[in-house]
Amino acid sequence: MEQSLETIFETVVARNPGEAEFHQAVREVFESLAPVLKKNRSYLDDKILERICEPERQIIFRVPWTNDKGEVQVNRGFRVEFNSALGPYKGGLRFHPSVYLGIIKFLGFEQIFKNSLTGMPIGGGKGGSDFDPRGKSDAEVMRFCQSFMTELYRHLGEYTDVPAGDIGVGGREIGYMFGQYKRITNRYESGVLTGKGLDWGGSLVRTEATGYGTVAFASEMLATRGESFDGKRVTVSGAGNVAIYAMEKIHQLGGTVVACSDSSGYVVDEQGIDVDLLKQVKEVERGRIGDYVARRSGAELGKSGSIWDIPVDVALPCATQNELNGEQAATLIKNGVKAVAEGANMPTTPEGVHAFQGAGVLFAPGKAANAGGVATSALEMQQNAGRDSWSFEYTEERLTGIMRNIHEMCASTADEYGAPGDYVMGANITGFVKVANAMQAFGLV
Ligand code: NDP
Repeated sequence: MEQSLETIFETVVARNPGEAEFHQAVREVFESLAPVLKKNRSYLDDKILERICEPERQIIFRVPWTNDKGEVQVNRGFRVEFNSALGPYKGGLRFHPSVYLGIIKFLGFEQIFKNSLTGMPIGGGKGGSDFDPRGKSDAEVMRFCQSFMTELYRHLGEYTDVPAGDIGVGGREIGYMFGQYKRITNRYESGVLTGKGLDWGGSLVRTEATGYGTVAFASEMLATRGESFDGKRVTVSGAGNVAIYAMEKIHQLGGTVVACSDSSGYVVDEQGIDVDLLKQVKEVERGRIGDYVARRSGAELGKSGSIWDIPVDVALPCATQNELNGEQAATLIKNGVKAVAEGANMPTTPEGVHAFQGAGVLFAPGKAANAGGVATSALEMQQNAGRDSWSFEYTEERLTGIMRNIHEMCASTADEYGAPGDYVMGANITGFVKVANAMQAFGLV
């Protein structure tokens, strides 16, 4: 990293101790920015980097609720309103026991640049809680969501901050939170949350958007080398919202997903994952990956190593941060992987990213490849504002167009800055410049 960037980075680390994931996300962006600062020193003079690393507002709050035995539980809630240069704060809520401020800040920081890449008028934010929805009854999840929203509602608004889902937050949780928001405020403000149910203001394709969008981005990358998903063997890690719809789209395009996972392990299914069965197990029954194996002949639970040991043409990490390290990347490369696209946020460690790029593997960073989710959330906001609802076909067409455009911008920026094929640099620079220019236009705020 250039010295001026290194100095600012050290300050960020010192000001935000113990937030390893946030430091990692900042470093990843800073590593791309030297050529931009060389072209435009005013970003340094105006302290854009120092300002962009400091959230505009951070809210941390107590979330008390009672479990089914009547016992009092206490969780911690977060909302980091990171940057509103391009529009209202926009970004999901994550409910997972690993959540702490450093995770929310890494996700919020990434979200600033991702949202900028979509070309939609949305700023960056993220929130969540260390609450674990797994194993909880619907009634417990409802009581938690109601308590969470009882504090969060005062910070939200269609022109202020518009949350959505992320790990552990799907349609059920959004429903409970929207219901509580509506009850407290006495306002039916559809545009205050996205990922809503189709009967009450949700958008078609929002459920599918992140997975479909990731596959659309990967298809664009493959096309630069005259390739497509047709006939390819693919691994998709995770078995949640992003992973399931990535698998569905890959199968529509003629590829075969031979493995997927959850936090209890991974499954290998050489005939191709049965996506309908997986949806039944994960979305309807909220079961484990082992329940899929029990009902699918020929499928096996992975016995050793990791999901990345399986030889594939394309790998899509779609579970969580830092799930694919340098050693695992080396194994994928040795086994002939051609393309990697991140459906999850920051799933590949820095060593993994460098290994893929060094080996000439097409590599798409999450902030570009998984931007289809938030882009479709912005389409949901558009429909809500116009009291309209679009068809599946039209909405998917808009999504595909947005993903093509993001790919094109990342590729041409990488070319312009002398790093052809470097989608990490392309995404970081494109996302950054727009936000930085808006911040400069607003003066010192
Ligand atoms: P879900 O909760 O629907 O699914 C997450 C999946 O990842 C589950 O299979 C889960 O397994 C697995 N997983 C989660 N944490 C871990 C862990 N620590 N170790 C191993 N496996 C884990 O979440 P999403 O599919 O929505 O999100 C997945 C990723 O995509 C996240 O990084 C998220 O930030 C990112 N993303 C999501 C978007 C969206 O629209 N939903 C948009 C853009 C990015 P288990 O059930 O066993 O916990």
